[in-house]
Amino acid sequence: MTYVVTDNCVRCKYMDCVEVCPVDCFYEGENMLVIHPDECIDCGVCEPECPADAIRPDTEPGLDKWLTINADYADKWPNITIKRDALPDAKEMDGQEGKFEKYFSAEPGQGD
Ligand code: SF4
Ligand code: SF4
Repeated sequence: MTYVVTDNCVRCKYMDCVEVCPVDCFYEGENMLVIHPDECIDCGVCEPECPADAIRPDTEPGLDKWLTINADYADKWPNITIKRDALPDAKEMDGQEGKFEKYFSAEPGQGD
């Protein structure tokens, strides 16, 4: 199994998660992070750290789409281990529905 980053990370990207991951398996897009499913050791430490409640274990039902997104973009985006500021409109965006469809950017973030 692995943990996956889901919809509510988009345009929030608080980044609290990257500092607690013991194996540094977060990867940064322009407006979202993902977890590399082959590197995640399923420790679960990041899940409660996410202010947007966006991290889930893939054992929960209905997360196939997110597993694919995390796996695809973890191979394309740079590794991120150091927390920076959240995106400027994170508070307004937090909790909106369907953010991936509306706002997702496939562009890479800056990484460490
Ligand atoms: S803490 Fe949550 S919202 Fe912030 S970058 Fe990590 S997964 Fe995204
Ligand atoms: S579950 Fe653990 S290893 Fe996996 S991304 Fe979260 S902190 Fe990293």
